[in-house]
Amino acid sequence: MIIVLKPGTSDRDIEQLVKRIKKYGLQPYVSRGKERTVIPVIGDERVLENVPLTSLPYVEKVMAVLAPFKLVSREAHPKNTIVKAGRLEVGGKKIALIAGPCSVENREMIISIARQVKKAGATAIRGGAFKPRTSPYAFQGLGEEGLKYLAEARKETGLAVITEVIDTRDVELVCRYADVLQVGARNMQNFELLKEVGSSGHPVLFKRGQSATLKEYLQAAEYIVSRGNDQVMLCERGIRAGVEDYTRNTFDVVSIPVLKELTHLPVLADPSHATGKWQLIEPASLAAIAAGADGILIEVHPRPVEALSDGEQSILPNKYAAMVKKFRKVARAVGRTI
Ligand code: PEP
Ligand code: MN
Repeated sequence: MIIVLKPGTSDRDIEQLVKRIKKYGLQPYVSRGKERTVIPVIGDERVLENVPLTSLPYVEKVMAVLAPFKLVSREAHPKNTIVKAGRLEVGGKKIALIAGPCSVENREMIISIARQVKKAGATAIRGGAFKPRTSPYAFQGLGEEGLKYLAEARKETGLAVITEVIDTRDVELVCRYADVLQVGARNMQNFELLKEVGSSGHPVLFKRGQSATLKEYLQAAEYIVSRGNDQVMLCERGIRAGVEDYTRNTFDVVSIPVLKELTHLPVLADPSHATGKWQLIEPASLAAIAAGADGILIEVHPRPVEALSDGEQSILPNKYAAMVKKFRKVARAVGRTI
C-alpha cells in the first residue's frame, strides 16, 4: 500500500502514523519529496482493511497494492483450480457444457432433456427446484419433488446435477440430491448463504450479481473459499450496465479474461441469462469460448413457449446439439476441446 500525505503534514503526525502502521506488523518507508510525503508500506496490507486511515486529517489517499481478496486470488494460488463433481470437470483444457431447463417442471421433461443434452456433449444437467422469481406470483419451483426428478435424471444418464439453493435452511436438503449447489445472481451477497454453502464442502456454481463489480464478486467468492471450500466455479451471467434494454442484461464478455487473470477459480459463461433471447445464445457462447470461458451454461427446453420460466431464452434440444458443433470449432481455434 502507498499512503499519500497532505502538504505540510508535521513530523509529529508522520511519526505517529509510522508507529500506528508498525503496530500491525507492517514496515512503512517514509519518503519525503519536495511537495509531498508518501509512505510505501511493505507487508500484507489487508490487515489494515478495516482501518480508515483517510479519516486522519493529514492523509490524502491510500492506494492499495494487493487485491482485497486473498484465497481466490491468482497471486496466492497461480495454478488453475479444477472443480470436479461426478462427470463434470471444469477448469482444465476441456470446456464443460452444462445445460437444462430453467426450472424442473416434471419428471419426464427433465429426464428427456438430460438424455438429449448428454448426447450433444453436456456433462451436467441443470434445473431449478427452488426458483428466485422477480414476481411472487410466478412459478416458484417444485421444491424437493424437483430435486428427486433431478436425481432420477442423474441415475438415468450419469450427468452431474446442478441446482440452485436460495435459503440457508435448504442447503443440507439440496446437498442430498445435487452434485453442485448453484448460488444465483440475486444471492451473490447473501453472506449467510455463502458461509453455509462454503461449510457444506459441496461444489458451488457461483453466479455474478446483476450489479456487482468484479472486485465485489471475488470478495463474495472469498466467503465460500474461506470456509475451506475451493470447489467454486464463477459464472458471468450478464449485468445491469445501465443504458441497454434490448437484451435482458449486458453480457460482460471481457469479465471472463479479467477473472481468469485475477483468480484461479474456473470461469463459466451463461449466455441465456446474459442475453435473455434465444437468438443471441449462439453468438454469445462463441464469444465466451473465444474469450477463454471454462464452461458454457445454456437453458434448453423442449417447448419454450410452454416453459414455466425463461422460455424466451430457452433453446430447443436439437438447436442445442447443432450449436455445440460450432462451439467445438471455436474451442479448437483457441487451443481447447469440448
Ligand atoms: C437460473 O440459473 O435459472 C437463474 C435464476 O440464474 P441467475 O441467478 O443468473 O438469474
Ligand atoms: Mn433461468
